Amino acid sequence: MTPVEIVLVYQSLLGIYGDRGNALVLRQRLLRRGIDATLTVVEPGDEVPSTGSLYLLGGGEDAAQISAVRELKADGHLFDALDRGAVLFAVCAGYQIVGRTFTVGDHDEVIDGLGLLDVTTRRGSERAVGEVLSSWTRPDGTESLVTGFENHGGFTYLGPDAAPLARVEIGIGNCGDGTDGAVQGNVLGIYPHGPILARNPDLADHLLERALGHELDPLPMPELDELRRQRIEAVRKSGLRR
Ligand code: GLN
Repeated sequence: MTPVEIVLVYQSLLGIYGDRGNALVLRQRLLRRGIDATLTVVEPGDEVPSTGSLYLLGGGEDAAQISAVRELKADGHLFDALDRGAVLFAVCAGYQIVGRTFTVGDHDEVIDGLGLLDVTTRRGSERAVGEVLSSWTRPDGTESLVTGFENHGGFTYLGPDAAPLARVEIGIGNCGDGTDGAVQGNVLGIYPHGPILARNPDLADHLLERALGHELDPLPMPELDELRRQRIEAVRKSGLRR
């Protein structure tokens, strides 16, 4: 069987908080289940493959965001891959650039994004910095917690074609409206780093299941469950003081 290709896009531009770890987690979760998977790392100037099953964008500074949008539009292959049914998961700056527009700099210059998610981002009333705790609904209707940390000045507002990905218990998320992230078809974006998929294995498996088109066997990792339990407890204790 052809290996599942995970494509890590422009991490030298968009990967300031170790978001490349998301790619390692996804690949490992497949390999540990006996599913062959490859990781393709694409830097600006390289051609983005259109053969991938799951594409990843991470966080970054304003200037890097502008460069990334320009390169991705000029390359065009990410759009082809999504048309074929690939999944895109974007974190923070990556999330902002897949939207319709975002603003940068002291004069709030408006930059066109990739237009893959019906969201717009503009400078928020405060900088969102700290731990976030939210929950999202699995396809079977059950809830799963998301833990991570956020650090963004842009606030994101959803249009009618995008649905919120998670409901925030602690933290700011999209814009302080109680939501974080967005989903529209096969494109998902959210604010927290961590890397978020290392902290949240359910979310990692959800992305893989969407990309593969079938459910995966459980992958029990009790030590990870215990780390998550401790972190969530600590965030809930300290979150009240945020
Ligand atoms: N530059 C963006 C902002 O500040 C994204 C930051 C990030 O990716 N952490 O809103």
